[in-house]
Amino acid sequence: MFEHIQVAPADPILGLNDAYRNDPHPHKINLGVGVFKDENGATPILKSVKQAEERLVENEKTKSYLSIEGTEAYRQAVQTLLFGADHEVIAKQRAHTAQSPGGTGALRIAAEFIKKHLPEATIWVSNPTWANHQSIFQSVGLEVGSYAYYDSTAKSLDFEAMLASLSQVPSGDVVLFHGCCHNPTGIDPTNEQWAQLAKLCSKQGFLPLFDFAYQGFGSGLEEDATGLRVFLNQVQEMLIANSFSKNFGLYNERVGALTVVCESAEQADAAFSQVKRCIRANYSNPPSHGSAIVTEILTDQHLRSLWEMELKAMRTRIHEMRSLFVNTLRAKGVTQDFSFISKQQGMFSFSGLTPDQVAQLRTEFGIYIVGSGRISVAGMTKDNMEPLCDAIAKVLA
Ligand code: PMP
Repeated sequence: MFEHIQVAPADPILGLNDAYRNDPHPHKINLGVGVFKDENGATPILKSVKQAEERLVENEKTKSYLSIEGTEAYRQAVQTLLFGADHEVIAKQRAHTAQSPGGTGALRIAAEFIKKHLPEATIWVSNPTWANHQSIFQSVGLEVGSYAYYDSTAKSLDFEAMLASLSQVPSGDVVLFHGCCHNPTGIDPTNEQWAQLAKLCSKQGFLPLFDFAYQGFGSGLEEDATGLRVFLNQVQEMLIANSFSKNFGLYNERVGALTVVCESAEQADAAFSQVKRCIRANYSNPPSHGSAIVTEILTDQHLRSLWEMELKAMRTRIHEMRSLFVNTLRAKGVTQDFSFISKQQGMFSFSGLTPDQVAQLRTEFGIYIVGSGRISVAGMTKDNMEPLCDAIAKVLA
């Protein structure tokens, strides 16, 4: 039965991580996978998370199943973080949230929900986008299209082209936006541009799906939610897939959520009942530990302020590494302009390095970068900056 099955290609990002792990190079550097690293190159557990876990171990009374949609306290905490406590969407109960195994789980449920209830819809993703988007949507049989986003010459957002592409999207289709810290380019729309996009969305009548995996990694928890909230001033319906992998450092606990916003509480109840059916047939109900940690932190004043400090420290470190990278390259005599990297947000930037240069960095210097030239800035440290920039200067020479 299995004889005809061929070996699948390695995942372009996670496969790189495996290759990095097996590389004996003594000074190897991993700028591949999107995992935050501190100044020592480690991905430690946040103090707020450790403290929350201690409380959970102490107080947990059962390992019985959660409900299909997860716990009420978690679902409320997620909505407050997404919309702000006093948002009309919450007051009118127009949104329902389901806990999910990571942002990926939320996207997968969103994909199934769209396929089932908007079967004719095409889903439009930015060009470029996170590689897994295409796989997730195609795996449920959705048609995936792409809209213009990145200007590779100017290394910036091609907003005119983006508007022109999205003006072609028909009513009833779905458009995926990265809530903040666009992966892989690190370039987000400005507040004014978000407002224009929201107006266009309302005019065209497409459904926005926000993939919100980096809240707090860009400018701040509230600031990073601007795009999504600006949209909610213009449109009544939205899907939001958010992840706590990065901002709580809970990568392996798989914690995220899918939120459905509808025009009325009645519609939200109906849509959410269908979301729950998708979940039931997929993984039945979510894992508990990660979401219990997030709930504990978000609902306790001490843990919450500790977490916000830790999140700020992660955000600040990434911004510092961006500037240090640009300055060190300049100091090494690199004449190409890399200043765009210090203007971008979040963990990733498109470096503009070619596939050949990426390959040379890997074979000669043990430096791992995704083939597209996407670099994870969080993999840079004060200690590896000199050898990293020396190597890049050599391959650019
Ligand atoms: N969306 C984007 C844009 C991401 O970068 C990621 C993680 N790399 C995810 C979703 C998925 O996050 P999670 O690990 O929580 O599944």
